[in-house]
Amino acid sequence: MPSRTSGLIDLHSHTTASDGSYAPRELVALAAELGLEALGITDHDTFDGYNQAVIDAANMGVRLVRGIELNSRFDVGAGKQRNIHMLAYFPASEPAAPFLTWLESQKQERRERNLRLVEVLQTQGVDISLAEVENVGRSLTGRPHFARVLVKKGYARDSEDAFRKYLGESAPTFVERQSFSTEQVIGKMRAAGGIPVVAHPVRINLLHDEAEARVMERLKEAGLLGLEVQHSDQSAELQDYYSGLARKLGLLETGGSDFHGEIKPDIELGSGRNGNIRVPFDYLEKLEAYSLK
Ligand code: AMP
Ligand code: FE
Ligand code: FE
Ligand code: ZN
Repeated sequence: MPSRTSGLIDLHSHTTASDGSYAPRELVALAAELGLEALGITDHDTFDGYNQAVIDAANMGVRLVRGIELNSRFDVGAGKQRNIHMLAYFPASEPAAPFLTWLESQKQERRERNLRLVEVLQTQGVDISLAEVENVGRSLTGRPHFARVLVKKGYARDSEDAFRKYLGESAPTFVERQSFSTEQVIGKMRAAGGIPVVAHPVRINLLHDEAEARVMERLKEAGLLGLEVQHSDQSAELQDYYSGLARKLGLLETGGSDFHGEIKPDIELGSGRNGNIRVPFDYLEKLEAYSLK
């Protein structure tokens, strides 16, 4: 086994507790095998994967960072909204209880959305049931699990096709999940003692100019503390741009692969897409230093 002196970490990954294909223990084992010095588990909407990995990580000598990824809606003006994924890290403390209660209520909301989605798909002649999808998603069923069922039953070629035809925002059968505003989500994360970070900013689909800088400034006023500078979807040039933006605005820099396992087979833990990320241990030290302030 390689010694853990790579100096590299990964602060963005998913387990089977959300839509990843690696069980928490398997993910920690992979991180150890790759010689990563720390692993951030940032499942969508739940800490279950992190909680399940704590003992294994201690046994395998991987430093584990508690995180979470939540969707939010951001008002870009002219009545238009964009989705922004927000990460929160809790490197030094446990999330406050009201935050956990709120996450539970979100689970219920998700279940209701899934039920509506099944109904809409059925009206379009798709033979699908909630039980079938929940059997794939288990603890947290989301659209990627719908995609797998649709592919398996021959309604779509692959996951992308399923999102294009049935599940994505532009599909006729799209069903919206009720989401909080980005400012509200940041507020809840801060109140819980977390460090809010904008995940994969490239996906907000802004031009990388003054307007994007103003968006980040607005979010900083709402309590934002960091920007995910390194990510599998961000080119070296974009990573430089976001690093400069973070420094200019006084935001912490973070980075991670957004590893999901087999669901996104071109992304590797620790190194991203074709080795496009190299996240230094120093990023984690700065997160920790901030949360201990
Ligand atoms: P949900 O939280 O159930 O609404 O599902 C959101 C998840 O679906 C995201 O975290 C992505 O992993 C996945 N997703 C969203 N849009 C797409 C897309 N166009 N293609 C593939 N996966 C997507
Ligand atoms: Fe995901
Ligand atoms: Fe995301
Ligand atoms: Zn993610």
